[in-house]
This record gives sequence, C-alpha cells and structure tokens, in this order.
Amino acid sequence: MNSMPVNLLDLSPGEFKKFLDSFDHVFSDCDGVVWTTKALPRVGEFFNLMKKHGKTVHFVSNNSVRSRQNYEDKFKEAKIENGYQSLTTPPFAIAGYLKALNFKKKVYAVACDVTVKILKSHGIKTKTGPVLGADIFDDYVQYLEDDPEIGAVVCDCDFKANLAKIHKAVTYLRRPEVLFLCGATDRRIHFGQGRSALGCAIFTNVVSEDSNRSPIVLSKPSKLFGEFAMKRAGVTDPSKVLFIGDMIEQDIKLGKNTGFKTLMLLTNIPKETMLAHKTTRPDFYADSLASIVPLL
Ligand SMILES: [Mg+2]
Repeated sequence: MNSMPVNLLDLSPGEFKKFLDSFDHVFSDCDGVVWTTKALPRVGEFFNLMKKHGKTVHFVSNNSVRSRQNYEDKFKEAKIENGYQSLTTPPFAIAGYLKALNFKKKVYAVACDVTVKILKSHGIKTKTGPVLGADIFDDYVQYLEDDPEIGAVVCDCDFKANLAKIHKAVTYLRRPEVLFLCGATDRRIHFGQGRSALGCAIFTNVVSEDSNRSPIVLSKPSKLFGEFAMKRAGVTDPSKVLFIGDMIEQDIKLGKNTGFKTLMLLTNIPKETMLAHKTTRPDFYADSLASIVPLL
C-alpha cells in the first residue's frame, strides 16, 4: 500500500511548484475527468495552463466505443485542441501490437464497430459476427467450426456480443498459436449519480474461462498499454508522467504498473472510498481539474 495521498489544495505555493516541476508530461483519462455527459468546468483552461508550464498533454481512455467524430465533438465542447490526435485507446494499442508482430493472418473480433474500423484502417483483416445467433440450439454446432485463417481473437467492448460469437472465439482459441488480445476490462460502467452496471468485460471473462486462456490486456491498467501510450506520445521516462484519472482500478493502477505519478479526481467516488481501497492509493488527489486551475 502506498502512503497517504496528498490533497493538491493543501500544498503551500512552494510545495505546489515542486509538484509541478516533478513531471514533464500530462496523461489524462477522458470520461470522468474531462467530461461526464457534458464537458466538465474549466478543463480546457487546465490543459492550456499545463501547456504554458511546458508540459505535453495526452489522453488515454479505455473507451473504444466512441467514434472519432464523437471524440472530436467532446474535445471541442471541452475547448481542447488536437485532443483526438493525442488520444490512445485500446484498438490503437491492439493494432500496434499486431503490427509490431508483423501479423498477417485474420483477426476474429468480438468488438464494437469503432474497434473493427481502427483495426481495418491499420490493414488488419478482420472477421466479425454473427450479429444474431441461431434460434435452435442444434444449429449452434456451426459456431464450433474452426477457421484456419484466424490467427488472433480480439475481445473489446461489444454491446452486441452473443453466445454464437463466444462459441466462435473459444473455438479459435483452442489452437494455442492463436493470439488472445483484449481491450477494456472494466467490470462495471459508471453512469454518474451513483448509478453503475455490468460492463462488456464480462464477455471477455466468459471467453477466457471457457477457452482456459488469459488475454494479453491492451487497456488500462495493463503496463503494456501504459508503455504503448508512452511510445505514441514519444515519452521514454515514465517517472516524468503525471497520470490523471477518476478510477482506482483502471487509472491509478495503470499509473502504478507503468511507473507514472498519479492524480485522482473525486468525480465518481468520495474520498473515503478512495482511501478504503485495499491495495492502491494515488499519490495526489483533488475534487476536479477546475479546483486546480487557480493554483496554476
Ligand atoms: Mg474515467
């Protein structure tokens, strides 16, 4: 367990300057930090001030579902320039991982349309579906047919996952040489105002359990994903990165796994819940980016 996190607003001006001098790069989560349903107050100002202090700014999100247009609209509403160009999400990391291996076979994707589109834009052949499974149980045997063209199974957020897709993914993964990669592992989705529900990672978990295979995780909190985000940002020293997030399991753990400094914003959970976490605490915390703006 780390020591007690420090409230940035409790620092003296000298201590705050020391904090500011301790990093060169800001990596920020998006949902719950930059926006919830709407852009959060003063976020554009915060990142502009960070740039004025000589920091580079990058965004790292597990949210694969938003389209490029949707991300661009959200960044625009938040008054953040070039946000999408500075963004890393799981499909970029999955494509990067496969490209680095010079992967030539086909991917079977249990994933949203955005992920599939990004894989294809990187020249990766991708097979998906069926959107609907058969109505009769006897017909499910068709989904147990192997396809030797498939060299990797990718599970990322898929709101249209079904039993047929799970059967297919597990069938391909029976061959040990088939890679198993996954995006977001978020067990729950937070809707704000204390509301949350199961996330798409439950489907990945079912595929993992039935195939007896563990996926290579290319999303927060995996170190591999943190290192990919660094590579994309042209950063080599993780200790010079401040990671800002609102979730311990994804953001703060990613920071700890990769060696970043961590700042937790209490957008979705109260301070008591943050402190009650059994294994992980951030280095710093604050209520919101807006609360830090007057200090910059
Ligand atoms: Mg978040």
